[in-house]
Amino acid sequence: MTDLLVRRHSVHGMPVESYVEELRDRLPEHDVRLARTPEEEREGIVDATAVTGTDIDESLLDRAEDLRLFAGMYAGYGHLPMDTLRERDVAVTTASGVHGPNVAEHAVASVLAFVREFPTAFDRQRDHEWRHFQGHELAGSTVTVVGLGAIGQGVVQRLKGFDVTTIGVRRHPDDGGPTDEVVGPDALHDALARTDYLVLACPLTDETRGLVDSEAFGTLPPEAVLVNVARGAVVDTDALVSALRSNEIRGAALDVTDPEPLPADHPLWGLSNVLVTPHNSGHTPNYFNRLADIVAENLQRVEETGRYEDLRN
Ligand code: NAD
Repeated sequence: MTDLLVRRHSVHGMPVESYVEELRDRLPEHDVRLARTPEEEREGIVDATAVTGTDIDESLLDRAEDLRLFAGMYAGYGHLPMDTLRERDVAVTTASGVHGPNVAEHAVASVLAFVREFPTAFDRQRDHEWRHFQGHELAGSTVTVVGLGAIGQGVVQRLKGFDVTTIGVRRHPDDGGPTDEVVGPDALHDALARTDYLVLACPLTDETRGLVDSEAFGTLPPEAVLVNVARGAVVDTDALVSALRSNEIRGAALDVTDPEPLPADHPLWGLSNVLVTPHNSGHTPNYFNRLADIVAENLQRVEETGRYEDLRN
């Protein structure tokens, strides 16, 4: 019997107990335990062969002699102590793909909200004001998606049928992609000049930090709308505020911001052409279902094959 220890976390504000139940359903042969406190984690890790969580407490690894798998709950692994885990022969799996449907839907909903001017509609409804306003049409416009991973591809897939032209920006454009056109980062500005809706779905890396800066806002057409479901720091926040205030772009839907949480007195809250959601797009009940599917499958593969090496990426 394998012991799977679930580190206690609040994930997107959802109670982790439901994730534990999903895992128990899928792994009836296993002892799936939730570490509710740091003390329970310290005790539980001693005979755990697998741990799942958003990260792992490196200081406890000396106690984890049986540990063979860390099943991460995030798509990325850059925040994990990879060298230490490798030295200890602990395989690492990620939850890459878990956010495809929920975050992609949120990005498409954000695009449509600005197409139909829903922020204006909400303002007028709040004020009980029956006054017409002009919307837009998505058909015929160009949507640029930066990052063609699970989320970016999910966005493109969902936009099919809306009669839009899509441009994908990816590090290796020769790999192709589901968009009408695929370009590399060096052609970003050429793409921005033709963009009506810019969707950011790339990881935050040295290359992407501040990618959308004042120069980028200058290149985007004034009717362009920014949708950021990636990480806040992919956008230069000061440049964004300035672009929104001066109508250099039409609006922005921000599921992620820099800083996070967005302070109550931050100027972004007060701009009528901004839709802020509090890093909320992953927050659906199906998230834990998909996560449990991925983790259970990885755990079973480790047990069946014993080939930890194959799972490292
Ligand atoms: P993923 O790993 O499936 O895809 C990321 C893609 O971005 C990869 O194809 C990668 O090659 C590409 N990429 C890397 N550097 C790039 C660059 N410089 N330019 C263009 N593309 C680049 O990840 P995913 O599940 O699609 O998630 C993407 C990002 O979205 C995550 O890294 C995370 O920061 C963010 N995210 C946000 C939420 C949220 O709640 N808003 C949830 C999950 C993920």
